[in-house]
Amino acid sequence: MNKLVLKPGREKSLKRRHPWVFSGAVAKVQGKPETGETVELWSATGEFLAVAAYSPKSQIVARIWDWGERAIDRAFFAERIARAVAQRRAFLDGAATDAYRLLHGESDGLPGVVADRYGDTLVLQLTSAGAERWREVIADALLDATGASRIWERSDAEVRALEGLTPAAGPLRGPREPARIVMREHGVRFEVDLERGHKTGFYLDQRENRLLLRDLVRGRDVLDGFCYTGGFALNAARGGARSVFALDSSAEALALARANAQLNDLSGIDWVGGDVFQMLRHLRDGRRQFDLVVLDPPKFAPTAAHAARAARAYKDINLLAFKLLRAGGLLMTFSCSGGVSADLFQKIIAGAALDAGVDAQFIDRLGAGPDHPVALSFPEGEYLKGLLCRVPG
Ligand code: SAH
Repeated sequence: MNKLVLKPGREKSLKRRHPWVFSGAVAKVQGKPETGETVELWSATGEFLAVAAYSPKSQIVARIWDWGERAIDRAFFAERIARAVAQRRAFLDGAATDAYRLLHGESDGLPGVVADRYGDTLVLQLTSAGAERWREVIADALLDATGASRIWERSDAEVRALEGLTPAAGPLRGPREPARIVMREHGVRFEVDLERGHKTGFYLDQRENRLLLRDLVRGRDVLDGFCYTGGFALNAARGGARSVFALDSSAEALALARANAQLNDLSGIDWVGGDVFQMLRHLRDGRRQFDLVVLDPPKFAPTAAHAARAARAYKDINLLAFKLLRAGGLLMTFSCSGGVSADLFQKIIAGAALDAGVDAQFIDRLGAGPDHPVALSFPEGEYLKGLLCRVPG
């Protein structure tokens, strides 16, 4: 088999089972591996380290499939996919929730492979050269392991460009129609646009936090900044909020949010289009007050290089949110930026509270649900972090 031999000492991160090899760590490539092909990784001292997918165009030149000397073939994917699917079955109740992540990339031992389930439809997102090479085998194994009949592909994430891959999206297995499907999350129904929805169609990572919010809102005035297709707002209405004010800049997302409210017979939500940064200022100037504010903005910092600018944006919206809260009010605030650590996020929120002049506390740390596991050897997998903060009553 073709081999990558690492520079002296560069096997250290692999010994800690971190699944990436950066191009600067490689001393030589033996043979002529094609993009996405399986290669062996060897240390400078002649020790076998792992089998990995080769990606010559990427800074991450190899992603580990396995730490043993084993064949990467149909049986490998069948085994790994069956294991991940079985793990999800253990904690998800299909009656109330039929939408969840089945494969979470590196943390499920499948770098660059994400698969989400929406009822009977699976959505597959491949973002590495290795994953791309095994597309058909992965699709077969997914159908076998889940009994689902349909796969839609959404390999159109920007990160694919870093691997030299072009976007690929559309039906992969099973019927082309419908491109919009309805799924259930803790008993609330959502229409998901497979073709145009964000990510694979929905922000599944927030499922448990949406449920948490539902239990906090009875009789309260709720503001959902960045509401997308209504995830938090609908749960606020379902939980008996007195009023729900939901903001997003995407007219398309708001149209789906309105349709989702109807689908669940939830009325009285005030959907407003516009820029949250401006609208929060407007609400503050109008002296509007809320009992609970959710802020779930898009990724301001995809990598650490964007962290400083992102920090200013997070601070800005959170400072305004603190000002909009009544005494005893709650702020549920998130960052899904890979470039902002949980520690940095907490510091930003502390700075926002300080400048807003409130002595806030946090009463819970929040993150993605158990269908988004994080391998302990791969801290990069923990991209979503949140704090539930309270201002004094
Ligand atoms: N909380 C949502 C997911 C939010 S995703 C859920 O549970 O499903 C982030 C959303 O922010 C997207 O819908 C995007 O359209 C919106 N957005 C991005 N920038 C914005 C801005 N400056 N003002 C308002 N909305 C914005």
